[in-house]
Amino acid sequence: MNPICRACGEADVTLGHILGQCRTTKNKRIMRHNEIVDLLKKRLALNNRVMVEPTIEYKGERFKPDLVILNEEKLLVLDVTVRYENKNFLAEGAREKIEKYKNIAHKLKTDFKVRKAKVVPIVIGSKGALPTGTIDMLRQLKVLKSDWLTLSMMALRSSIEIINAFMDE
Ligand SMILES: [Zn+2]
Repeated sequence: MNPICRACGEADVTLGHILGQCRTTKNKRIMRHNEIVDLLKKRLALNNRVMVEPTIEYKGERFKPDLVILNEEKLLVLDVTVRYENKNFLAEGAREKIEKYKNIAHKLKTDFKVRKAKVVPIVIGSKGALPTGTIDMLRQLKVLKSDWLTLSMMALRSSIEIINAFMDE
């Protein structure tokens, strides 16, 4: 049995809770997410048109993927998620994103009259894991290997900061 989280009092205090769910660490999680999106945006903007957090309506619902990337061949709906490495959380993260944005990708394909469109989930573990699916995506996006390590370190470093801040409270 784990004791209750003393920061929020809402759940058992586990590493997964502190890094992924606790509302007291939410701001830091958002910063971690934005830092990763910013790096990808910078790299992808060199060779593509990049839209940042565009609002897209579909069947009365509003969606805001992190990035929509467009070049002559294709359109990509990219969304970043950092997940605690546990069981199949990383695979689930990718599946969730595809499920959430596949209709959006299809709609944008028609709107922008491109031949291909797909969802690109960038799932990174909160301890820095880059699952094979993410590596494949980064390769396809032509993001250099040196940046893979940076992305991984951004997640890990932020997790250490989250834990340090949590312990200091
Ligand atoms: Zn908590």
